[in-house]
Amino acid sequence: MQKKYLFTPGPTPIPPEALLAMAQPIDYHRSEDAVALIKDVLEKLKHVFQTENDVLFLTSSGTGAMDGAVANLLCRNDKVLVIRSGKFGERWAEICEAYGVEVIRIDVTWGNSVAPEVVEAQLTTHPDIKAVFATLCETSTGALHDIEVLASLTQSTPTLLVVDAVSALGADDLQMDNWGVDVVVSCSQKGLMTPPGLAFAALNHRAWEATEQSDLPKYYLDFRKAHQRGLEGSVPYTPAITLLTALQYALNHICAEGIRNTIARHNRMAIATRSALKAIGLPLFATSPANTLTSIRLPKEIDGKAFVNMMREKHGITYAGGQGELSGKIVRIAHLGWMNENDVIVAVSAFERGLAEIGYDVPLGAGVAAAQEVLTKFTDQEC
Ligand code: PMP
Repeated sequence: MQKKYLFTPGPTPIPPEALLAMAQPIDYHRSEDAVALIKDVLEKLKHVFQTENDVLFLTSSGTGAMDGAVANLLCRNDKVLVIRSGKFGERWAEICEAYGVEVIRIDVTWGNSVAPEVVEAQLTTHPDIKAVFATLCETSTGALHDIEVLASLTQSTPTLLVVDAVSALGADDLQMDNWGVDVVVSCSQKGLMTPPGLAFAALNHRAWEATEQSDLPKYYLDFRKAHQRGLEGSVPYTPAITLLTALQYALNHICAEGIRNTIARHNRMAIATRSALKAIGLPLFATSPANTLTSIRLPKEIDGKAFVNMMREKHGITYAGGQGELSGKIVRIAHLGWMNENDVIVAVSAFERGLAEIGYDVPLGAGVAAAQEVLTKFTDQEC
């Protein structure tokens, strides 16, 4: 059997205790144990979201929480601002338009991050913008957006800031309360080291007030219902109880490490990976790369799709390729969730070898050496 390594930005590897938890006999979701489980998980999520606000959960993938954020916050004639710097920014716009909301798009060249002045200018031109929809890490490009600065533009105005932290929660910093972010959405299968199937949202008091006014249709994704029931350790509908048991173990890991340390670990892995790429001689795709993943722009002579397929089939190494207009042009290596520095070495060394195997002139070992150098420096400083 081939040993497999998953370096995609979701799903991500799952800790062994979480896998074992899912192998236990399934429980009734209205039992006392389930109530305790739900309450515990929702409390621990606050630590990861860096908030005192309640966190609610849905049984859906991350897009369910995005859809719910739109349906629960907005009204029929609202106007919103969407930052579109890749596939997931575009998703915000698509969801808003599906609900008939007027969307003003800020188009950012893929790989770049939004310039806050551009957002500020739109907010000045359209003071009636109800909400700005942003993405912490645009997973399709690997770019990080400066949410702290965006929040500084919205928090003293009636405009809400809604952030998709689906991939980056737990990997890139997002201080919901300190920065004044109104809504954060995320999901289970990325930094939270759990299989796909759970989505989360945290809303502050401004956002909860907006939900009282909202007149868009909602039923399954009704945040107020999910929130109220969650506080009681309950749910409106049958939840993915098996995933909740796994999530509890994954959250125990993060709480034991401490979210600031978790983010610092992701930062070390990202810096080491970026340094390796520099030594290999391949450029990064994102101008402000996230801790979540590293996107590599491939030279024209390399077919990115074929490379990713070859690595998966021959070596059991799964990297992510490019999406949409980036298909075949970039490779994305995630360092996300249940990973540490040793995983970075595996990802980088396999990448170098794979390039050599397809005939690309790569200085074998250069990337690994550069990554080791970075990691050793960190270890010396921090241990
Ligand atoms: N937003 C971002 C930033 C993502 O990375 C993803 C998943 N790759 C999504 C939204 C959509 O999440 P899901 O596929 O879980 O619905």
